[in-house]
Amino acid sequence: MSDAQAGASFVLVVEDEPTIQALIARTLRQHAFQARIALRRDEVLALAGDEACAAVLLDLGLPDDDGMDIARALRERSDVPILMLTGRAAVRERVSGLEAGADDYIVKPFDSEELVARLRAVLRRKPRVERRRPRAVAIRLGAGQLDLATREFAGPSGSEKLTEQELRLLRAMVDNDGPLARASAYGLVFGRKWEPTDRSLDVHVANLRRKLKAALGGRDPIATLRGKGYELSASASLETEDGG
Ligand code: CA
Repeated sequence: MSDAQAGASFVLVVEDEPTIQALIARTLRQHAFQARIALRRDEVLALAGDEACAAVLLDLGLPDDDGMDIARALRERSDVPILMLTGRAAVRERVSGLEAGADDYIVKPFDSEELVARLRAVLRRKPRVERRRPRAVAIRLGAGQLDLATREFAGPSGSEKLTEQELRLLRAMVDNDGPLARASAYGLVFGRKWEPTDRSLDVHVANLRRKLKAALGGRDPIATLRGKGYELSASASLETEDGG
């Protein structure tokens, strides 16, 4: 995903089967939807919590997780439209999925036109504007504050301009419950899967840490938890346009 697309609304695709995932992504693009892909539960919940997430296409048969549980977890947090993807024979599954809070389901294999029609119907029934929460305008971190529009982080010892990736990284750490795992960070910050040889996250964390420390006057607000990921050690909160 390019920086220019970062603020655009997107459909979150939770589907592990590569051919179906590719078909969905292509179909969405052809119909002018942005697609973002996530498979891990923490990533799905974080991305679905983003106000730019228009809907979630959720496969019930995931290798490492239960789509039904994810649907319930999503529903506890928001009323983002959920369109489930289920196997042909699983009638019981479809009923359970609807009970878990999905808005509609689509049976595999499906036609791309049907997918778009179902998605549009769900979006019409639950237009985003009705569930829009106050927009975040700033992140307070320790004694400093980041302006989300200008990406300027101002602290007692000075001001530093963050890159788009550094901003997303900090936002992901603020939004995440508990440490931000490496694999999740790749999905949230770069929109791609983590490969063990990929060191770009370390570079962005180091740069972000250096800037925050400089503005805060030497205190390191990012804790590295071995084998778990990154966590903010300073108090952090979002400030919204309505003053919340
Ligand atoms: Ca699957």
